[in-house]
Amino acid sequence: MNTFNKYKIPVQGLPSGDDLYIRVIDVEGPEKGPKCYIQASMHGAEHQGNAVLYQLLNYLESNDIKGSIRIIPTANPLAINTKMGPYTFGRFNAGTGDNWNRSYYNFTENNEKVHLFAKQHLNSSESIINVEYKKLMEDLLVDQITESKYGSSQNGHLHLILQQLAINADYVLDLHTAGVATRYLYAPEYLAERSSALPFPFHLIIGDKFGGSMDEAAFITWVNLRNIFSDLGRVFNIDFESYTLELGGEERISIEEASKDLEYILKYLSHKGLTRNSETKSEYKIIKCNKKDYKSYFAKQAGLYDFIAKPGQLIKKGDLLAIGINFENYFLEESIKYEVLANEDCIVLTHYPSSSVMQGTEIYQVMEQFY
Ligand SMILES: [Zn+2]
Repeated sequence: MNTFNKYKIPVQGLPSGDDLYIRVIDVEGPEKGPKCYIQASMHGAEHQGNAVLYQLLNYLESNDIKGSIRIIPTANPLAINTKMGPYTFGRFNAGTGDNWNRSYYNFTENNEKVHLFAKQHLNSSESIINVEYKKLMEDLLVDQITESKYGSSQNGHLHLILQQLAINADYVLDLHTAGVATRYLYAPEYLAERSSALPFPFHLIIGDKFGGSMDEAAFITWVNLRNIFSDLGRVFNIDFESYTLELGGEERISIEEASKDLEYILKYLSHKGLTRNSETKSEYKIIKCNKKDYKSYFAKQAGLYDFIAKPGQLIKKGDLLAIGINFENYFLEESIKYEVLANEDCIVLTHYPSSSVMQGTEIYQVMEQFY
C-alpha cells in the first residue's frame, strides 16, 4: 500500500505573532519509481487545482503507485486569504503588487558551479547526470537562501521553500486557472511533442525561457545545463518535464469537473510509469499553438461587456467576440452598442471575468494558427 506522510511548513509570519503554513502530503508507493510534484493555488483566486488534488488523494487511497507524488494544496496561504468583499485578491501580493507567479529563482543561470559540473560530467551517462545534478541544485538553493543576508521578499521567501520542495522531482505540475477559461496548458519548446502525454485539449508551446513562473523555474535549470553541454559539444536530452495547467475559471471549484481534470493527469502519470494504465478508452484531441500565435485582445473602448464567444469555441475571422455598451456614446449621438470582431480565425482560451471593462483591459486570450 501507498504510505502517506503529512506535515506543515510555516511560510509567512504575521504581525499578530501567528504563522501561515503550507500543507505537504508525500505519497510513497510500495515500489520505487519517478517523483512527481504537484501544487495548486499559487494565485489565490485559482481554486480548481485543490478539487483535483482532493480527487487525486482519493485515488491514491486505493491505488498503489510506483514512485512518489508530493502534493501541495493551497500553496500560497496569504493569497487565498486576501479577500475584498466576496472576491479573492489573489493574483498579486496585496502589499507589494508583485505577481505571485513571477519571482521564482533562476539560480543556475551563469553559475560557475553548473559550468564546472558540466565539464566534470561531460562523459557521464544521462541517468548519473540526472541524479548528481539534483544534488547540486539542492546545494545551490541552500546557497541562494544563505546568500540573502538582507532577507528575502514575501514572494521570494515562499518561492524558495516551494522550489526546495520540488527540486528532486522528475515531473512538476503547477495547477492554475484563468479568468473565465477552458482547460489548457503551457509547455516549453523542448516538450512540444511530449506534452501530448498530458491530454488537456489545448497546449500553448512557450520558449525554453525563464519569465519567473514555477514551471519555468523548474525546467530552466535543466535547459541551462543542456545549453552548457551543447557549448561543450555534448547533446543532452532533458528527461525532466514541467507544465502549468489551467483548469477553467477562477473563484470556483467543481468536484465533478475535477474528475475529468484528474483523468488527464492520471493518463500522464501512467505514461510516466507512476500509475497503472487507466481503463478509459477516451480518444483525446489535442490542439497546439506556438507562443507567437497566442494573442490577447485589449479593450479599445471601456464599457460593459457581454462576452459572446465562449472559452473552447472556434471563432471565424470577422465573427463576433463581444458586445460592449457605453452610455457616453448616447450623449455623443453615437450608438451605445459596439462590437468586438475576431481579427483572424481563433480558438478562445479565456475571457475577462468581469463585464465592467476599463479601456486597455485584456478581454480575450485566443489561439491563432493552431495545429
Ligand atoms: Zn495562475
